[in-house]
Amino acid sequence: MAEVSIRKLNKMFDVTHVVKDVDLEIRDKEFVVLVGPSGCGKTTTLRMVAGLEAITSGQILIDDAVVNEVPPMDRDIAMVFQNYALYPHMSVAGNMAFGLKMRKFAKPEIETRIKRAAAILGIENLLERKPRQLSGGQRQRVALGRAIVRDPKVFLFDEPLSNLDAKLRVQMRVELKKLHERLGTTAIYVTHDQVEAMTLGDRVVVMKDGWVQQVGEPLELYNTPANRFVAGFIGSPAMNFIEATLAESGGAVVAEAPGLRLTLPGPQAARARAKAGRSVTLGIRPEDVHVATASDSPDLCFDSTVEVVEQLGSEILLDTRVGPATVVASVDPTMRIRSNDKLRLSLKPERLHLFDAETEV
Ligand code: ADP
Ligand code: MG
Repeated sequence: MAEVSIRKLNKMFDVTHVVKDVDLEIRDKEFVVLVGPSGCGKTTTLRMVAGLEAITSGQILIDDAVVNEVPPMDRDIAMVFQNYALYPHMSVAGNMAFGLKMRKFAKPEIETRIKRAAAILGIENLLERKPRQLSGGQRQRVALGRAIVRDPKVFLFDEPLSNLDAKLRVQMRVELKKLHERLGTTAIYVTHDQVEAMTLGDRVVVMKDGWVQQVGEPLELYNTPANRFVAGFIGSPAMNFIEATLAESGGAVVAEAPGLRLTLPGPQAARARAKAGRSVTLGIRPEDVHVATASDSPDLCFDSTVEVVEQLGSEILLDTRVGPATVVASVDPTMRIRSNDKLRLSLKPERLHLFDAETEV
């Protein structure tokens, strides 16, 4: 069993503050994903957990023991890197054995562990090959194998799928998920890809500029993003944002923008009332916008002009213009819509988000 606690963790490179007061409690057997744009401090955080990077302040605990000063070798952690970091002159078996030899495991034990890991990963027939004789996907499996044989307390993954082509990446993602279900080892996984984060993570940690923005289960982040950044980062295609002004009108609260006047539904209105007269950002996901029908309340309808039609088979993505704003809508793939069509759109009121400068209203 292994829990990892990260407390008020900070990292400065000279005067550059790249990891800022990160707090994170990772439970036993949990698969936690750190996600955020390039440069937000994911790798640095992971490397501090591994012991590959000194921390500037804070604490890292593994199973209640502070490991701040413990060398990487003794942290009982295995890390899988984006570039695989295989030894080119060693065979697959040699690569997998290396960490165990360093730790003075007996030869029969090493062989047993390699056999077992190779079977799990389906690479039994590759054990004698050199890394250069392997495909990208196979190398990635070997890198995983090298981590698995160690049977560590915690797996750390730094963008392990980034170097694979799109199809293989999806396939390996599924395999990683199965692997975690089978082994149950606590894992911290870093990626810039929100789809990977959403599909792999029991919980997802969204980072920006060294700060944690939100920690939650995937659906929690999707349904109740803490701020505009998380709202825009999680979900694909991205959430629409429309700058609007709130006003009270005959007891109701309306959000107004050029080409748009929405009467806010109950829960949002209650929260928005206090902000009447203020500028806000409306957020609505493309999947929550639809072509208006007679049953839609006019309070939530608006006119648009279709600019681009993307037929994806499972859905049509429409880029529409609403005043100066672009609103993307995901609509039924059987609809016949052309660019320049005038469309009346509506939205699911309970899915409408309102953001302040920073946080959800
Ligand atoms: P991410 O993995 O999220 O892309 P990193 O943790 O690699 O981000 O980097 C965070 C920031 O720290 C970046 O601005 C990066 O340039 C900087 N950085 C990373 N490593 C070093 C280093 N060894 N020296 C100086 N700056 C670094
Ligand atoms: Mg990185």
